[in-house]
Amino acid sequence: MLYRKDPIPKGTANNRRPGYSMSPTTITIHNTGNPSSTADNERSWLTNPGNTRTASFHIVVDSKEAIECIPLNENAWHAGDGSGAASGNRTSISIEICESGDYAKNLDNAVQLVAGMLRERGWGVDRLRRHWDWSKKICPRLMYDGGKWTGWFDFKNRVAAELAGKDEGKVTKQEYEAMEKRIAKLEEDNKLVPAPKWFISEFGSPDLKGLIADPQLTTEGWRTLAIGLRSSRK
Ligand SMILES: [Zn+2]
Repeated sequence: MLYRKDPIPKGTANNRRPGYSMSPTTITIHNTGNPSSTADNERSWLTNPGNTRTASFHIVVDSKEAIECIPLNENAWHAGDGSGAASGNRTSISIEICESGDYAKNLDNAVQLVAGMLRERGWGVDRLRRHWDWSKKICPRLMYDGGKWTGWFDFKNRVAAELAGKDEGKVTKQEYEAMEKRIAKLEEDNKLVPAPKWFISEFGSPDLKGLIADPQLTTEGWRTLAIGLRSSRK
């Protein structure tokens, strides 16, 4: 997952980036409440002239990326509990989980993101909050489950498992599989192969009529050679 910073400007309309300095003590989880918007859409909405609300957030995550929209040492208006020094709005980093597209993947990415942020800070899952915890808004709404909050406890458990796994120096099954794939790809890329058919049909023979002693190159090598030969013909 890509993590990119695209902070909204200081002075963004409707006081969306108030700029109070913040030493965060918790991380608050939200759902965007919009079934069709991506992380990029949510970021754009913060600076859309049609947006008249004084509401903002720090990070939004979807299946593709996480976008940091307000620096994490400044506050955002996300918790609905005013501006007091102890409010969620003034002490908590907010993360919006997108509801659009592949929600399972959005959630996977949120678990990874949050686990990483807790680890960096030496925090446990006791530092996690719902928007609900600050102001009783039903948010993150996709974790609500009619008041049982099943999805919330699942989420916290998954983050805890991620933290525990990493503490033991383990990689997750997903990471391991991704690693194996990358290695296979590298091996494939570095394998020496005889001249491909297209090369022979374009240049007449694999060894250029005796010019190359042992015509074994990587797939990329054959392409590079062909490009060189073509340009020398001109
Ligand atoms: Zn919320």
